[in-house]
Amino acid sequence: MSKFIFVTGGVVSSLGKGITVASLGMLLKSRGLKVSVLKLDPYLNMDPGTMSPLQHGEVFVTEDGGQCDLDLGHYERFIDTNLTKKCNVSTGQIYWSILSQERKGQFNGGTVQVIPHVTNAIKTRILSVAEDSGADVILVEIGGTVGDIEGLPFFEAIRQMRIDVGADSCLYIHVTLIPYIAAAQELKTKPTQHSVKELRSIGIRPDVIVCRSEQEVTEDLRAKIALFCDIDEEAVIPNTDVGSIYEVPLCFAESRLDEIVLEKLKLKAAPANLGEWNDLVASIKGLSRSVKVGIVGKYVSLPDSYLSVAESLRHAGFAKGTHVELRWIEAEDLEKGSDQCLEGLDGILVPGGFGSRGVEGKIMAARYARENKIPFFGISLGMQCAVIELARNVAKLQGAGSVEFGDCEHPVISFRPGHPEVTGLGGSMRLGAYPCLVQEGTLSMEAYQEAQIQERHRHRYELNREYLDSLIDAGVRVAGVSPDGQLIEIIELKDHPWFVGTLFQPEFKSRPTNPHPLFVHFIEAILKSC
Ligand code: GLN
Repeated sequence: MSKFIFVTGGVVSSLGKGITVASLGMLLKSRGLKVSVLKLDPYLNMDPGTMSPLQHGEVFVTEDGGQCDLDLGHYERFIDTNLTKKCNVSTGQIYWSILSQERKGQFNGGTVQVIPHVTNAIKTRILSVAEDSGADVILVEIGGTVGDIEGLPFFEAIRQMRIDVGADSCLYIHVTLIPYIAAAQELKTKPTQHSVKELRSIGIRPDVIVCRSEQEVTEDLRAKIALFCDIDEEAVIPNTDVGSIYEVPLCFAESRLDEIVLEKLKLKAAPANLGEWNDLVASIKGLSRSVKVGIVGKYVSLPDSYLSVAESLRHAGFAKGTHVELRWIEAEDLEKGSDQCLEGLDGILVPGGFGSRGVEGKIMAARYARENKIPFFGISLGMQCAVIELARNVAKLQGAGSVEFGDCEHPVISFRPGHPEVTGLGGSMRLGAYPCLVQEGTLSMEAYQEAQIQERHRHRYELNREYLDSLIDAGVRVAGVSPDGQLIEIIELKDHPWFVGTLFQPEFKSRPTNPHPLFVHFIEAILKSC
């Protein structure tokens, strides 16, 4: 029987609840427990697949093709476990399933209500992840902050779970902000008190409070929070800003968060084995070199839009003792005619994306990298832009483009044969992990050292094989194909220090303790050439 830890947030959003959940999950796993995680998102969308990354950050793709909240990326990276699409629940999904049942007459004429129907559906989703994963501990993060109207059914569902599974199998952690008021030169606990009051008013009494703050939360403050919020003093866990998110689990271990959680859940586990994580943090603190990588995209005003790419670059840097300084470059700025913003970069990465805005700028970035022999990594749309660039400027196919952006003379990027017709957004994409055969004598083979790999996809369009010969004549090397040989998964450029484009998105599989081979190879190439 699984135990459940529910993590809620108060005071403000963006407190790093996801990192708290991921860090605690990592600590529990290091003690030999099997851990799984769910994120409950109270918004009405079915999933973030059709939401703008500028509003919601990146869409994280799971092995089974779920288009999920970016927090699932944190969970996978910290806990080093693959999650599934079932691990991300939205209000939209819950209502969709209830209304489909209702249309089929499955409520036998009864009135369909938030309590019990919506709350039951939420609990069923949580319990089904527990059952599928067989985990000892299920961590459940509730998106948003306590008091949000749309979050209420989720809070009610997790309140009921304490009765359903028993008090010893349920634990509530509330993450709050302790703001520093400069004028008073003081950290203030009042917002936390109010937010805990709000939580209690809906029937949830937190067992642990995690206090996010810029400054050290002193013993006195912890005692005050404990008193006013009616919890044990040791269960007030400080979470002060640290240099790297990967330090957070170690800070929690120091505050005994894992011990406290286990005691409260009456769970026995081995002592934490933090050797690998200590080494990771030591390597992050000891980075001795530095390289500059430009990320050319259209959502760069919100770097969370490319969170997994940024983390993957950092992971590869950690493995190579190198700080990877990220330069965020707005693709449309390049279109204004100056490539000044690319000057001085040691490497260029064009990540995935959708739609035509900024595409010409991304194509210019690929050209700049090719001509100046700067290591270049094109991912999904980034790979497609590199192909268009090579087609136009090397293969001399004037008017080469992608059918995604309308009709063009040479659709070098197009639908694959037999692709379902696009009807609206959301459907018709190739999603999740697919195998790819890595070809001998390529940079990719040097990186992977494996003939068959599995990578995660999220795209509709492919390299059009009709143009393959022209592209090969222009210097392209096919470095990865689908097992039936039909789909070109990886391209490389001959006579260039490192120019690789992948149709898949390798960033979803990089872990700090196990960085992705292509990202490591990219950073190695950068180090060699600078
Ligand atoms: N828009 C492109 C496609 O659908 C690329 C998608 C992506 O970059 N993930 O094929």
